Amino acid sequence: MDTTRRGCLRTALALSLARPASPAPEPAEPRDSSFDPWVEVHPENLRHNVREVSRRAGARPILAVIKNNGYGLGVANVGRVFDSMDEVAGLAVVKLDEAVRLREGGIRKPVLLMGPFDEKNLEDVVAKNILPMVYTPIGPALDRVAKKLQRPVDLHVCVDTGLGREGVPYRAAGTLIKELAGRKSTQIVGTMMTFAEDPEFDGEQLRRFNILCSSLEAEGVRLGRKHAASSFTLFQHSDAFLDMVRPGMALFGIYSEAQFRNQHVLELRPGVALRTRVAYVKQLPKNESAGYERVYRAKQDTWVATLSVGHADGVPRSAEKGARVRIGNGLFRVVAISASHLIVEIGDKPLVKIGDVATVFDWTEGSRPEDVGAACNASVYDLTMHLNPLLRRRLVEV
Ligand SMILES: *Cc1c(COP(=O)(O)O)cnc(C)c1O
Repeated sequence: MDTTRRGCLRTALALSLARPASPAPEPAEPRDSSFDPWVEVHPENLRHNVREVSRRAGARPILAVIKNNGYGLGVANVGRVFDSMDEVAGLAVVKLDEAVRLREGGIRKPVLLMGPFDEKNLEDVVAKNILPMVYTPIGPALDRVAKKLQRPVDLHVCVDTGLGREGVPYRAAGTLIKELAGRKSTQIVGTMMTFAEDPEFDGEQLRRFNILCSSLEAEGVRLGRKHAASSFTLFQHSDAFLDMVRPGMALFGIYSEAQFRNQHVLELRPGVALRTRVAYVKQLPKNESAGYERVYRAKQDTWVATLSVGHADGVPRSAEKGARVRIGNGLFRVVAISASHLIVEIGDKPLVKIGDVATVFDWTEGSRPEDVGAACNASVYDLTMHLNPLLRRRLVEV
């Protein structure tokens, strides 16, 4: 089955994402030993990945994409880690709310809003030093805001070269860009595109972008830094690194496609873990069942453990098709999942006990997000971005 990002986007489970919570305070002692699942964030691994991406990109600046609650790690957590690194030129999100929260959380680097905004939000966006991504003729609104704030508006222009999403179609882009560049009120500091990540089409997209940019530059139009490269591109097309790279998933230490894992192009270390505790251990007599619809049947007397984490926390429902959870030194098969619980098969001996820490995924070989994603037949994007934003995030400094 297709476990690439695109395949899984087609079959993704629609787990709804609530508005991401503000960074959770450090847990108080009594809660620390609770049975609630938690997300661990590993800043040193994140910093390692930034250095790896920088090396791969020939020291080009990195625009770190931390949309969707920082890919599940907590947008403020990862914002702070990346804000402190020289390799990172700026941060990019898709939702206005996240851009504002980064600014309000004291992030100093440029923040690019790669998503839509209403013209009536423009002044607020610019006043907060958030860079808008522009792809429509909003010159007059930019003029008004620049006049009011008494400074030109820095922006990035987004060109659609074939993804068909937001972005001015490349054939019409020259006109829009010249119109924007000709205004005193604006300064184009970046020009960007996004690949469809189809190896046969990406080259054509890049060709369209390069032709557009070089003809504009030949006319003296300033485009700022040109950027296009997501994680996929970091592995696939070094000719598309341009002036700046724009990855997300690679910075979180996760290979976006299984095929990249053994290519030694980038040595990535996952910066995120999902853990919980064993809530209950019991022996099922032979022929007894467990789980809704009796999804599991004990072929012989078997110990099973209940873990307090489920699909409402972000574990894919398909985990019951063969994902394994680590408890102590053992990997145990998930045999049933519900909203807040997993049932795992322990075997003929009670090898685990109530309160033991159980790892759904972390940075250990065999338990990496890629391993769990593959076992669930789920994309790693679904695994981390679907982590419930209400789960406590804990930073583990090593
Ligand atoms: C999400 C996103 C990225 C980063 O993609 P990864 O696959 O996580 O590296 C880059 N650019 C845009 C426009 C995006 O939406």
